[in-house]
Amino acid sequence: MSTLKNGDLCPVCEKGRLREIKKDLVFSYKNSSKKFRNESVFKCNVCDYEALPREANRRIEKELTDFRRNINGLLLSDQLKAIRKSLGLNVKKMAKLLSVNEKTVGRYENGKITQSEQIDKLYRILHKFPSTTNILRPDVSIPISSFRGHIIVEKMYNYIPEPESAYNTYLLSDEYFDLKRSENATRC
Ligand SMILES: [Zn+2]
Repeated sequence: MSTLKNGDLCPVCEKGRLREIKKDLVFSYKNSSKKFRNESVFKCNVCDYEALPREANRRIEKELTDFRRNINGLLLSDQLKAIRKSLGLNVKKMAKLLSVNEKTVGRYENGKITQSEQIDKLYRILHKFPSTTNILRPDVSIPISSFRGHIIVEKMYNYIPEPESAYNTYLLSDEYFDLKRSENATRC
């Protein structure tokens, strides 16, 4: 889908036209809330449909995923990426190592989906003990230099929250962020 613009036909009611407005967006999750100030939103002048432009959608989606991860004590997008990089692995090899779909690692890193608690633990173990890759997948070799890598990661992130209870997987629309739906989704 192309980018949203003023005057686009509303995809929901197919009667109204979309118009760009500025508004603050507030998302709540488990008694916490996160605010995005003065965002451009395309609003239908007939029904109550609202959508974000693609760029804002991606940015907010990633920030919200990290917002929920942080509350649930899971590693954040950039931490997952830093751990993978410290192991000297590309996303394909990392996926093999974790026994997940090839695209999944990229989706963890750009906040499209949240890793399970089990995968989160694997990341932490790999981060502390890179040599465990040999146990998980002897066929995925990691560069020797990676065995020192995790020290750099620890410098970058002083605080890595411990996993607690929750196990949340969110898969949001790739195109537009349906504000109504996502607001509901975050209110658990
Ligand atoms: Zn409409």
